[in-house]
Amino acid sequence: QTRLTMPLLGLMRMALDVQTSKALFARIFEYLDLVPAIRDAPDARPVDDARLGEVEFDEVVFRYPDAEDDAVPTLDRVSFHVEPGQYVAFVGPSGAGKTTIAYLAARLYEVSGGAVRFAGDDVREIRHDSLVDAVGTVSQESYLFHASIADNLRYAKPGASDAELEAVCRRANIHETIASFPEGYATIVGERGYRLSGGEKQRIAIARVLLKDPAVLVLDEATSALDTLSERHVQRALDAASHGRTVLSIAHRLSTVRHADTIHVLDRGRIVESGTHEELIERGGLYATLHAEQHVEQELAVDGEEADHVE
Ligand code: ADP
Ligand code: MG
Repeated sequence: QTRLTMPLLGLMRMALDVQTSKALFARIFEYLDLVPAIRDAPDARPVDDARLGEVEFDEVVFRYPDAEDDAVPTLDRVSFHVEPGQYVAFVGPSGAGKTTIAYLAARLYEVSGGAVRFAGDDVREIRHDSLVDAVGTVSQESYLFHASIADNLRYAKPGASDAELEAVCRRANIHETIASFPEGYATIVGERGYRLSGGEKQRIAIARVLLKDPAVLVLDEATSALDTLSERHVQRALDAASHGRTVLSIAHRLSTVRHADTIHVLDRGRIVESGTHEELIERGGLYATLHAEQHVEQELAVDGEEADHVE
């Protein structure tokens, strides 16, 4: 059951992005047919342009479809409100429900209680294609199709010109690298393709999301699988991508969310505290504890790196 669920989830996440170029990725859609499709309500509307980028969770309760009815919910009355252009972070221990929030924000699942609203409207009343356009995701490990880099980028925006591709790749800090490949943008990547590093893949994924230009960007531990150096490159690309849009950022490394407008701290499916970095440190609660723990870990890591240097 679980073995099946995870790849399917990955595919569903892709479904949100791929929709625009079905022909090219028809094979993947064969698998997507296995996933119960989200049907538009008969009177579904597009996202309201005037409030594009506004996101609200209103007392959201959520249980995964395979959970027991009496199980503790994965999300328990989670409420928050994000204004257009704000940078909001979610932190908390592993298993707290952060990724689940990212799924619900992209409407990969239906809530069990409460509501998720985009631009003031319940997502269940919004046309799915419109929601797909409004939300872009970069997760821990990005998926690249077995296709050229150019095609991988264009699936976010079919018909994008070469100049557009280059512009987003420059902003994502990956153009020079691609240009240095013998085949450049025609380089075939993905399974059995040219082997890219994790950081290169992530930057291509960021370029792809820039091309899509969503009002809401969801980052789910987008740098957590990387070493310190490539993390720095990718973080710079993410900062560029975050500019001028709403960002919901899930970060394992607390230093990356320090400047968030609001940080929500999750523990066992509930938001236990919210505030700016300074407010939460001052408060001396879970965030302060996590921060202190990570500080120690980082010091140890730095010591380790220095030791390697000496050898
Ligand atoms: P986090 O991202 O904070 O580590 P998650 O949102 O991934 O936490 O998970 C929250 C809880 O939901 C965990 O207990 C996890 O085991 C459970 N969970 C995650 N994905 C699924 C799934 N597809 N089906 C059932 N339970 C899940
Ligand atoms: Mg997670």
